[in-house]
Amino acid sequence: MQSEILSIGTELLLGEIVDTNARYISSRLRDIGVNVYRRVTVGDNPDRLLTAFKESLGRSDIVIATGGLGPTDDDVTAKCLASALGRGLYFDESAWDSIRQSYLRRGRLLDETSSSARKQASIIEGGFFIPNPVGTAPGQGVEVDGKLALLLPGPPSEMQPMFESHVIPLITKNFSGLTPIYCVNLNVAGLCESMVGELLADLLESSNPTVAPYADSGQVRVRIAARGADKGEALAKISDVEKEVRRRLSPYVYGKNEETIEMAIGRLLVRKGLTLAVAESVTGGLICHRITEVPGSSRYFKMGMVAYHPEVKISTMGIPPHAVHREDAANEEVASGMAESVRLLAGAAVGLATTGFAGPEGGSDKEPVGAVYIGISHKRIGITAERVIFSGSRSRIKVLAAQRALYLLYRLLTEPDKNRG
Ligand code: AMP
Ligand code: MG
Repeated sequence: MQSEILSIGTELLLGEIVDTNARYISSRLRDIGVNVYRRVTVGDNPDRLLTAFKESLGRSDIVIATGGLGPTDDDVTAKCLASALGRGLYFDESAWDSIRQSYLRRGRLLDETSSSARKQASIIEGGFFIPNPVGTAPGQGVEVDGKLALLLPGPPSEMQPMFESHVIPLITKNFSGLTPIYCVNLNVAGLCESMVGELLADLLESSNPTVAPYADSGQVRVRIAARGADKGEALAKISDVEKEVRRRLSPYVYGKNEETIEMAIGRLLVRKGLTLAVAESVTGGLICHRITEVPGSSRYFKMGMVAYHPEVKISTMGIPPHAVHREDAANEEVASGMAESVRLLAGAAVGLATTGFAGPEGGSDKEPVGAVYIGISHKRIGITAERVIFSGSRSRIKVLAAQRALYLLYRLLTEPDKNRG
């Protein structure tokens, strides 16, 4: 049983918006055991859309399309699917009623005679409509020769609830014997993808569960996925392999599934009764943002500041003028000084700081663009600074620097040293 996803919209082809619908649908289909074999993106062009529907329906048992269901003339999805099936469209009273309800809910006036509004109630002959509890454009579906074609609106906030409440039950009802894939993701920091690959080399060849590392903004995740007759069987298979992966990658695995490194840091700080302060230059507040994304971070996060201008590093952080007024204005002395100062200013146990060159201009023979210094000051251990070099765009360097700084902090908090309580 194969499925495919059709993303419709010229804005997708022009790179103006990211196709998050396909990603969402893929992951939910995986959850229920439906294989996604292909994703297709087409603009709002009737000829190409008609061809795309014919091709998709020729190949796959389930075709899920999003976009192009709105009231305007460029929204041609329903018409094209109808043509691909050699069917017409009819005006569906219950779909129209659902459109009427959605206008009422939003306190908007519906012109009952408006042809563009009525167009949204056009359902393919032999098909059924799927109510949209959030917006106006209803979805619809049609079953043909044991195959299922479903059309959903483009906005993710409308598509997702409709997918959950209608599409998933419909698929599980129409297609029996689906064996869902269960997944666990282990989150790894401090090792690159190829090192993880080498450490897990033989495991990557197994088939149930499958083990696969993939890179994800400055860190690596290891996906362990299994199928089983039931959830218990699949999870038992995963659990054995998970233990082995953890054993090989220890101490670099900081969390599982949705757990971020900032959550792991929060957990450690609370357990050790430590508090944190952060002074950021090159990362411009990214670290503080991530720390404060964690609910309950006020228990351990005392303060954060963005000390950007050299004069501010001198006046508020007490960095010696000679350290910032030189060609390599980001250096070990500045990073260490910022970490120590912010720790003392906040009265915290641990201070974390970043400074560096995010580019694209700047850099020198001594310090290239991408050079970042990360300072950590710990009330008992003392002060350390690390130099790292990243490449890529300005925002990528900032993201990677924040990730590295959080990793170094995590590592410090997990190092087995009883003095480090
Ligand atoms: P449409 O239903 O084609 O009128 O799409 C309405 C809006 O939904 C678009 O302007 C996008 O903002 C959003 N949208 C459409 N398709 C997608 C998609 N595949 N992923 C994410 N957002 C989308
Ligand atoms: Mg569109």
